[in-house]
Amino acid sequence: MKVNGTFCSAVAGFLLIGSVFGAEPPGGRLLEGTGQETPWHRVLSGEPGPVVMIVGGLHGNEPAGARAAEQIRHWTLLRGELIVIPRTNAAGLRAGIRFVPNLSPAMRDLNRNFPKINDRNEAVGELAAGIWRLVGECKPDWLLDLHEGTDFHQINKHSVGSSIIPTKGAGMEEAVQQALVAVNATIDEPKKKLVRLRYPVNGSLARAVHERLGVRSMILETTVKEQPLSRRSRQHRIMVHAILRHLGMVSSCVHLMAEPLDKVSDKERSRRIAIYDAGGTGGAGARRLEVIFGQMPKSLTRRVGPPEIRAGALTQFDMVVFPGGSGSRQAAALEKEGRGAVRRFVEAGGGYLGVCAGAYLAVENYSWSLKIVDAKTVDTRNGHWKRGEGMVKMELTKRGRELLGDFGGTVDVRYANGPIFAPAGMEELPDFEALAHFRSELAKNGARPGVMVDSPAILCGRIGKGKVICISPHPECTEALHGIIRSAATWLVDK
Ligand SMILES: [Zn+2]
Repeated sequence: MKVNGTFCSAVAGFLLIGSVFGAEPPGGRLLEGTGQETPWHRVLSGEPGPVVMIVGGLHGNEPAGARAAEQIRHWTLLRGELIVIPRTNAAGLRAGIRFVPNLSPAMRDLNRNFPKINDRNEAVGELAAGIWRLVGECKPDWLLDLHEGTDFHQINKHSVGSSIIPTKGAGMEEAVQQALVAVNATIDEPKKKLVRLRYPVNGSLARAVHERLGVRSMILETTVKEQPLSRRSRQHRIMVHAILRHLGMVSSCVHLMAEPLDKVSDKERSRRIAIYDAGGTGGAGARRLEVIFGQMPKSLTRRVGPPEIRAGALTQFDMVVFPGGSGSRQAAALEKEGRGAVRRFVEAGGGYLGVCAGAYLAVENYSWSLKIVDAKTVDTRNGHWKRGEGMVKMELTKRGRELLGDFGGTVDVRYANGPIFAPAGMEELPDFEALAHFRSELAKNGARPGVMVDSPAILCGRIGKGKVICISPHPECTEALHGIIRSAATWLVDK
């Protein structure tokens, strides 16, 4: 088990509180036994202070708030308590749709089903009623409702994306300002910074709890458009963290994304996989890989980007995955500090899975590459790396079948300008082992014919206490080959 080093060291002093292994965390389930069942959590400090309710996923096509809330519930408190419902519209989140599935148009928007002004003090539908009851029982002082808009409000006034929509009450303006300052400090483009908007819509949870129960509430909105999930979830964490800090409540670091490892017993331990989804990634790689890892027993995935990585957040994970896209752009996004953090993470015992661009990122021969495996790429100059995209033949080696599954003979796999590997001859690292070879090739754009055939398609290596697997093609694009990805992750994670 890895222990947090410099990362979030402030947490260490509080780890003993409530750290009984195996104890059921306080909380419960809404609509238990139905298709809309969803857990809620109570985070206690043991000290008097504000009660803050954090709600995610009222709209199922706004996943960043749900993800952030699921992370925030593991933060350690100095005082007061948190009530967290990460996935309120769990069925909508699973389906990736805004509404609660299978409900009539009048009832399906969960965030319009709370008591309206000049109307009965009743929520509409079982799910909203369950949430409303929980609010009534917990009597929060504050409620933070995490949403996402389609566009940046400063660019497109029709969207509430990238805004905070507060109600009123003592301390509200200060809290909003703290959140805006904190999140906007991380955003370079002025038009993408968050702004304060007027007042929550009638029928929304935030408005109802304020008007009916006097709760100080606000809606926090990130923007889906052109922004990776890691960034949107991070913006929610940053805003919530700033508000909780303003209330003197939080001691955890803003990048704490899962239960601190010291609190988890070995028996309950998940395989923790960080999936890089930020600058230099492209297409559906991160999403596909996340689905595949999600099918592994006891797996936990989180999306990460350069800020978490540079802050040392990888120490919360067993392995990191860099998907397809552009290796040089991933390296540029990470910056020198982030590349150093990835390298140190692997040397200290972490696993590294690089697919296509992520494999380019791992090798030895670029000024920007991580040099965590004794392999270089060949025939990449003068645009030769652009060998083409399409299906090619691949054959696993004996070692490959031991590690990745018993795929006999040649298999068809998608290829998209992946690296052609050769030994780099690094003194300080052991030689890589080939786990599969290409048995056919693509050689467009002046690439040399004959170079790709029989070169390694998948390889593994070791650095320090850590392990590396580099995959040149895209087995994640072919369902029959998903076992290769899962077996690779299992080998990388298991000690
Ligand atoms: Zn929403």
